[in-house]
This record gives sequence, C-alpha cells and structure tokens, in this order.
Amino acid sequence: MPGVRQLKAKYLHDLHGLMKAPLPENETNRLAVLRQFGILDTLPEEGFDDITFVASQICGTPITLVSLIDQDRQWFKSKRGLDISETSRDVSFCAHALLNPNELLIVPDTREDERFADNPFVTGGPHVQFYAGAPLALPSGEVLGTLCVIDNKPRELTEDQQKGLRALARQVMVQMELRRHLIEFADHMAVQVQVEAALRESEERFRAFMDNSPIVAFLKNEQGRYTYVNRPFLQRFNLELDHVIGQDDFALWPDAAPELREHDLSVLTGDGTVSIIETVPIPGGDEHYWQVYKFPLQRGGGTGRFLAGVALDITQNKRYEKQLEEYQQKLEEAFSKVEAQSLTDVLTGLNNRRALERKFEEEFKRAQRYQLPFSVLIMDVDHFKSFNDNFGHPAGDELLHNLGQLLAAKARTSDFVARYGGEEFVVLLPNTNSEGAFKLAERFRLAVEAMPCSHRSITISVGVASFNAGMDNSATLLAAADKALYEAKGNGRNRVVQAQ
Ligand code: GH3
Ligand code: MG
Ligand code: MG
Repeated sequence: MPGVRQLKAKYLHDLHGLMKAPLPENETNRLAVLRQFGILDTLPEEGFDDITFVASQICGTPITLVSLIDQDRQWFKSKRGLDISETSRDVSFCAHALLNPNELLIVPDTREDERFADNPFVTGGPHVQFYAGAPLALPSGEVLGTLCVIDNKPRELTEDQQKGLRALARQVMVQMELRRHLIEFADHMAVQVQVEAALRESEERFRAFMDNSPIVAFLKNEQGRYTYVNRPFLQRFNLELDHVIGQDDFALWPDAAPELREHDLSVLTGDGTVSIIETVPIPGGDEHYWQVYKFPLQRGGGTGRFLAGVALDITQNKRYEKQLEEYQQKLEEAFSKVEAQSLTDVLTGLNNRRALERKFEEEFKRAQRYQLPFSVLIMDVDHFKSFNDNFGHPAGDELLHNLGQLLAAKARTSDFVARYGGEEFVVLLPNTNSEGAFKLAERFRLAVEAMPCSHRSITISVGVASFNAGMDNSATLLAAADKALYEAKGNGRNRVVQAQ
C-alpha cells in the first residue's frame, strides 16, 4: 500500500506534470553574464574544491556542489559525493534558487515539497531528501547557480550552518571574479604581446627600408636637433648615431648651418614641401651638393612639429654639369678662334671680308707711302633678290659660287678678289690707275654678263675709285667706290661708274 506521502506526490505530479522551475526575469542577461565568466566545462580547480570541502564539513552533508545553471543544464564546477558532472535543468533543484538572489533555498524534506517530491533524484538515486542552496549572486542581481549541500535523509541547518553556507557562496563568487580577472588579464597580456610583436616588426621593416635606401633621411625637432637619421646618413658623414641625435647643424657643420637652418625655418613656418640644393661638406672631402626635399611633420595628436628631410647626393651630377659647361665654353672659344683666324669665304672660296680689310689697309699704306697708283672696284649683283625669289636660295648660292670662281679667274695675279658680303664683291688693284681700273671693271662686267647660267643670266653693277694723295684712309677710298656703285645702280645697272 502506498503511503499518504506517495499519494500526495503522485497527485501533484498528475496535476502539474514535473514541477519545472520558472525562468527568472533576467534570464537572457543572466546567461550572457554566466558565459562571460568562461567557466562552463572547465577542469576542476582547487579553489572551488576547497570551498565544497569546507561546506561539507560545516553542514555535515555527504554531497556538496558548486552548481551553475546553463540554458538547458546544470553543470558542476566542483562536486563532492557525486560522480556526474551535469544534469538536465528540468530536474535541477538549484534552478529554483535563481528566483531569490538573497535567500537560501532550504528543503528539509523533498518528499514533502511539491516542487521536488517527484524529482527523479528524489524518487531514485541518489535519493535526495534534504537540500540547501545558497545563491551565487552578482551585485547586479543575476544568480549564476548555487553552492548547495545535499543529504539523503531529511534534516535542518542550524543558524550558524546557514551563515557559513552563505559565507562560502560569497567565497565562490570571489573565486569566480578572481578567475575571470586572471583570464582577462592573461588575454590582455596575450594581445599586448601580439601588439608589441607587430609594432616591433613594423619598426624593423621601417628601419630596414630606411637603412637600405640610397637616400639620406633625417628628422629634426623645432629647435633643429636631430631626432632620427638613417644609416646612409651616418655612413655618408662618417658619424656615430650618438654624436648626431640631439645635436644640431651648428654643432655638426658650423659653416653650412646658417643656410640649412634658414631653409628649415621656412619649411616649419610654411606647410609645403621645399625642394632645394644644399651644400654640406663630406669629412675629408670637398663640398658636396645635395638635392634635398624638406617637409613639416606633425606627430601624434599634434603638439610638436618636426622637420623631415630626404636628400640625394648630386655632387657627381654637379661635377659633370660643370665639366660640360667648361667644355662648352672651351669649344666656343676654339670655334671663335678658328673663325677669327679664317680668311676664306666658305661659299665662294674667295678672300673674306676680314682678309680684305687687312689687305686693303696694307695696300693703302703702301700706295700712300710710295705714292703708287691704287684702285678698288666694288660690285653688286643686279636684282639678285628676285633671282633668289624665283629659283630659291640654293640656286642663288650656286650662282654666287660660280660668280666667285669667274672673278678669280678673270683677275690678274696681283689683284685681290674678296667677297665683301651678300652678293657684293670687292677687288683691290695695286699699281693700277683709274684708267686701268675702269678697263678691268668692264672686263669683269662683260664676263659676268656672258657667264652661262642654268636659270637666268645675271649682270653686275660696278663702282670704281682710285687712290689720290688727299685720301688719308682706306675707308675713304672704299666709300668713294661705293658711291660710284650707287650711281651705277641709279643709272640703270649693268654698268661701271668711275668715282670723281
Ligand atoms: P639690286 O642690288 O640690283 O638693287 O637688287 P638686289 O635684289 O640685288 O637687292 P639687294 O642688294 O637688296 O638684295 C640682295 C639679295 O641678295 C638679298 C639676299 O636675298 C641675297 N643674298 C645675300 N647674300 C646671299 C647669299 O649668301 N646667298 C644667297 N642665295 N642670296 C644672298
Ligand atoms: Mg647688295
Ligand atoms: Mg644686288
């Protein structure tokens, strides 16, 4: 025959089904907080096992648990007197303790309690008959589980035992917080280590980049003191890092410093990149030229401006440039020398104007000194511009060339034929009086008129002048011939006019 107690339990069971604990209002948040502790499914830890041991001693119970209520299960972080590590939440005693964060849940006799009478742990092994659970509560109100003591016979807890159980539950929370902080700290350290490694790697990469580049790079603070220089900088100036960092240009190269500082200040007060050529001496060598780019740099947050600079040694280029300039100048000098020395007209092969001037001066003086006859002809091709216009400049050149050859051929050995300029020619006739000169001029004129030409025959006009004692220089004689030529042109061209 079943007892009254069994009947009552059966009745309640039939009425309500299994008495599941209602979910607390803050369940979602509670679960999130529990997960944050990262404690579920971890290995046993001494700190928690010590607490369950002491709780067993204080309460004199065979089973003690640190039970954490997960979404669908309760999981034991520490357990004494029980072998399983978790159960379904449906049959959990502790789940009922979640509802009152501040109170112990004490069930003196489970068989008398409608919430637990038909619990399989009551009806079957381990035959729970007494249960007392202290909530593991956070100050914010979430209850994560309980520290609970269990007996397989009905009983009570004394006032002191209850106090002890509460105190130990608080210790469980202390342990959990401690544990969480340790884990957070370890995580933080791991991140820190990673960040530092990444930073170190980035720093190393930057240094490798700067130190292996062919450029010299540096940073100076607003006072002009070096705060960073790369390896090429040290190598080029043969300096030790310790002797550069913290120093300014005045200490390193006093002569160049004022100019460098001036450039730096203009960069620091402006905000663009400045490109300049600076000269800084290399130790044991002469002055070096640097193509420098300087720009202002604002570092982290904004206080403190820096001057950044990269520089390329262009001394070699400068030397080539200078050498080239020197060569160029020498070449020009040589060329003008050659030109100055040349006395031949390239196009006609006749004497050029320079040669004429010399010879003219010579002959004029001779005539003057010895009172010798001396005449000069000046001839100009008629309408030569139209010849050029009609047949082209090269044809004009060819004609001038042929004309030059003709004049040279018709002249006597003692005559001096020169191209005066353009299509004008001068012939000096030493020992020749005005009569002889006129005859000769006519001879030239006729020869030209008869000169065969592939395009069009040409003519010349000629002015003739002869030396007389009243003339005191060659220019006067030439001017007289030129005047006569002008007359010949005016009189219809292709003719000879004798100066009066
Ligand atoms: P004119 O003397 O009868 O008054 O007429 P022109 O057409 O000859 O007049 P002008 O003396 O003003 O022009 C001379 C021309 O000679 C002009 C220029 O084109 C030509 N000339 C001068 N030097 C050279 C040269 O070296 N080569 C060629 N092809 N032409 C030249
Ligand atoms: Mg002319
Ligand atoms: Mg002419």
